[in-house]
Amino acid sequence: MQRERLLKVLVIGDLGVGKTSVIKRYVHQVFSQHYCATIGVDFALKVLNWDQKTVVRLQLWDIAGQERYGHMTRVYYREAVGALVVFDMTRLSTFQAVLKWKGDLDSKVALSNGTPVPAVLLANKCDQRSHGLCPKLPKLEKFSKQYGFVGWYETSAKDNTNIDAAITCLVKNIMTVEDERAAANSEPEGSVLVLPRFDYSAKEKGLSGCSGCPSLQPRDGD
Ligand code: GDP
Ligand code: MG
Repeated sequence: MQRERLLKVLVIGDLGVGKTSVIKRYVHQVFSQHYCATIGVDFALKVLNWDQKTVVRLQLWDIAGQERYGHMTRVYYREAVGALVVFDMTRLSTFQAVLKWKGDLDSKVALSNGTPVPAVLLANKCDQRSHGLCPKLPKLEKFSKQYGFVGWYETSAKDNTNIDAAITCLVKNIMTVEDERAAANSEPEGSVLVLPRFDYSAKEKGLSGCSGCPSLQPRDGD
């Protein structure tokens, strides 16, 4: 019997950094140049055959219109198990906002043992570097470790660079935490465990059929 994990993952960062584009690229394999700021909170679903025993239902929670406040309400963060923190490599101010978003995340949601939920840093729009449009940034390897990210990737939703790798890295970290938690609670093998415990099914949309986990691609700059 397969077990099922429902993972609520937040996608946060300043307005225009590419949050919606990252989600659309990952879930629907599309990219649009046209900026469309829908208002409110929305989520997309992707079903992953994670391993032989596990199906992951990954909910990616998007925000629109509330980025300008630099923080989100506790309701948005509730029962999240991980986050993508996105900035735009062409705009330094969006990088400077990363710590504000990470701080907001860590202050509003935590694992049951009190430690922060796993977060991966996305330096998005890396396709613009070849056009000379990216200002010099601090070394992201050191920065991400220092501020508690479990990984970082230079991504492009436009070119589909490292989007799968970044999200796979996050899910791996989340699943490690989940497995440790399940082991501590001695869950029987093959049990169906749905996390979080509330029902989003009416709102779920998107697609199933991801053929497993993509292999990790090397990060630019490694
Ligand atoms: P959000 O406000 O964070 O959700 O940002 P959007 O996803 O709406 O993207 C804002 C703008 O950046 C849109 O015009 C997108 O087409 C563009 N964009 C998003 N990701 C990329 C990327 O990887 N490369 C480039 N060149 N543009 C991008
Ligand atoms: Mg958006």
